[in-house]
Amino acid sequence: MRELSSLAEMRAWSRSERSRRHTIGFVPTMGYLHKGHVRLVDRARELADRVVVSIFVNPLQFGPHEDLARYPRDLPRDRTLAAEHDVDCLFVPDAAAMYPAEPLVRAVPGPVADTLEGTARPGHFTGVLTVVTKLFHIVEPDVAVFGRKDFQQAMLVKRLVKDLDFPVTLDIAPTVRELDGLAVSSRNSYLTADERRSALVLSRALRALEQAWRGGEADPTRLQRVGLEAMHAPGVIPEYCALIDEELQPVPRVTAHTVAVVAARIGKTRLLDNVVLGEGVGADPRVTP
Ligand code: AMP
Repeated sequence: MRELSSLAEMRAWSRSERSRRHTIGFVPTMGYLHKGHVRLVDRARELADRVVVSIFVNPLQFGPHEDLARYPRDLPRDRTLAAEHDVDCLFVPDAAAMYPAEPLVRAVPGPVADTLEGTARPGHFTGVLTVVTKLFHIVEPDVAVFGRKDFQQAMLVKRLVKDLDFPVTLDIAPTVRELDGLAVSSRNSYLTADERRSALVLSRALRALEQAWRGGEADPTRLQRVGLEAMHAPGVIPEYCALIDEELQPVPRVTAHTVAVVAARIGKTRLLDNVVLGEGVGADPRVTP
């Protein structure tokens, strides 16, 4: 496995692979790799000849009072995991290389980025789309794999690619869950044992929504209430529950294609989850931690 930190070397590696007629699959991450990331790597391997994983904790997508400084990092462990999963190139740029100066020009999404996560994290998606734009220009992938776990992010990256004509195919992989339903996340490492138990309210709320919808309820306001109520538990602050379509718009009637998205604060940790109602949480892949 190659490990590169220079932007120019990364681009040169990709171009040299492409000159040998190898296609390039790309998985951008913030590191502290887990089985959700591994699923994206395996998917990239199915779709391309070479797999690049980037690890970069992007300061631009963190607000001033967020967890940038304490975001979990373990490069030696990530390196081992990436090598074990046949990653061809690990790209680990540092912040000074990515942002030699405060960027004056950024990839600013439309108003849908100010809803849901964007309400709680102003400017977050501008940071995400700016770094994704830069990474796409540096890695020049044929295909990039993102997780459905961060649904709003995946849909905004889809629109970035479509609206700005990036020559890359996107693949959105399902949410990998632990056996009890909790969506795997690097931020789960913040949780105490009690908080870990409380965190199950998110997947439980999605299941409650699924059940109510299967029972015939199609009114988004009533379903939203079901989701929010299911997240009420000691130590949990429910943040939102919304029923939206792939364009991130609230739906007038809930159908099998509607996506239920939830967010809650468990102690100091914000967690997200979502489900396509017609597919159900039960359809997502499960792993042991
Ligand atoms: P992160 O390192 O948290 O920025 O995530 C990097 C990529 O992995 C993003 O596309 C995430 O949506 C994806 N991802 C994170 N957790 C999961 C999960 N549990 N299942 C599937 N994909 C995930």
